[in-house]
Amino acid sequence: MLQSQLFTKTRREAPKDEITKNAELLVRGGYIHKEMAGVYSLLPLGIRVMKKIEDIIRDEMNKIGGQEIRMATLHPSDNWKKTGGWDAVDVLFKLQSRTDKEYALGQSEEEIVTPIAQEYVTSYKDLPVAIYQIGQKYRDELRAKSGIMRGREFGMKDMYSFHESQEDFERFYEIAKQAYFQVFKRAGLDAKVTEASGGSFSEKLSYEFMVLTDAGEDNILYCESCTHCANVDVSKVLEGGDCPKCGKSKLKAARAAEVGNVFDLGEKYPKSFEFTYKNKNGESKYPIVGCYGIGTTRLMGTVVEVLADEKGIVWPETISPFKYHLIEIASGKESKGGRAEGIYEKLSENYEVLYDDRDMRAGEKFADAELIGIPTQVIVSERGEKDGTVEIKNRKTGESKVVTEEDLFTSNI
Ligand code: ATP
Ligand code: MG
Repeated sequence: MLQSQLFTKTRREAPKDEITKNAELLVRGGYIHKEMAGVYSLLPLGIRVMKKIEDIIRDEMNKIGGQEIRMATLHPSDNWKKTGGWDAVDVLFKLQSRTDKEYALGQSEEEIVTPIAQEYVTSYKDLPVAIYQIGQKYRDELRAKSGIMRGREFGMKDMYSFHESQEDFERFYEIAKQAYFQVFKRAGLDAKVTEASGGSFSEKLSYEFMVLTDAGEDNILYCESCTHCANVDVSKVLEGGDCPKCGKSKLKAARAAEVGNVFDLGEKYPKSFEFTYKNKNGESKYPIVGCYGIGTTRLMGTVVEVLADEKGIVWPETISPFKYHLIEIASGKESKGGRAEGIYEKLSENYEVLYDDRDMRAGEKFADAELIGIPTQVIVSERGEKDGTVEIKNRKTGESKVVTEEDLFTSNI
């Protein structure tokens, strides 16, 4: 893509009302546009990142047998009244039509997915099944001060699995857990999962997937010698205490962002909808339900928080809007028909390239490239004209080297 054609522009100044690094850098880079507190639109660069995040999630969910659907986000109030959520869920947005009908905006989709599954699952032979979607969610959050990490409208992948038994849910949970770790790893994050919390005290047993960052809203305790991680609110051991799992290290406290969550919902939703299936003995049983969320916009914000430096965003290649940022340094020269344009055309045959063909000073182009954060910058200047070379700069490390155009085209760099 030609940067001169990109309708968004970078901004030098951070918007005054953005106090978080993720929103500040994403707004300045032209990735997102703020509509109001907790509500953002995705711009061309932002949607490219989001689609890549979604594709990683889609790939991992499909691998474990998840089947993708797209559920309605405008919900009939009856479904929410049946489950008790209409009165109990404080973040639920409720709407009234001009004919006085009531609706809810989807904040989670148990109320929709359960009746869908009910229609098709009648026998134990139809189980287990895992259904997911990637879409918008709406929540009347009291505080929306974490940029795109806590929105009133935000993206989420939500999957729901239906099982014959608790054991089968637990079997599938272990598989889903590994898929979750894969998602976060592929997106450039190191996630931990909290020990199961809730359960006997509440109807929901939950596992939270946490990424260490001061921009997160959760307080966790974790062990550096093993995988132990717990939410401070539920942890039996305090900060500085011996790890209850391995005993080798003292627990450390940290701020973290919850990028994913799994709930063991038991029979609650099937009971609300009188959803039963026939087991092997012909008896009617309620299926056991699991719910698996990943906040896609929160994930994007978390990557910015964790990887950005003082110059701007640093994307991992897997979710970067482009693979290469081609920057032409041609003082006073017409870029049309020049060497950089030829490189752009050839390189774009196989890779996603953002080509800075704008008539601007080198310093401004470099500052923009650092802010936008594409992992590999390809700098084309007069210097390499004679021997057909370009400079490759790694956004993260700042290291650069000279390579031939041929090596660039074959990604041998
Ligand atoms: P939190 O404790 O942060 O409010 P939650 O427990 O309400 O999260 P879930 O209902 O499990 O979250 O939603 C699944 C995932 O969706 C969360 O793990 C998080 O990544 C994301 N998420 C939840 N609320 C928001 C929000 N307001 N804005 C952006 N992402 C969110
Ligand atoms: Mg919440």
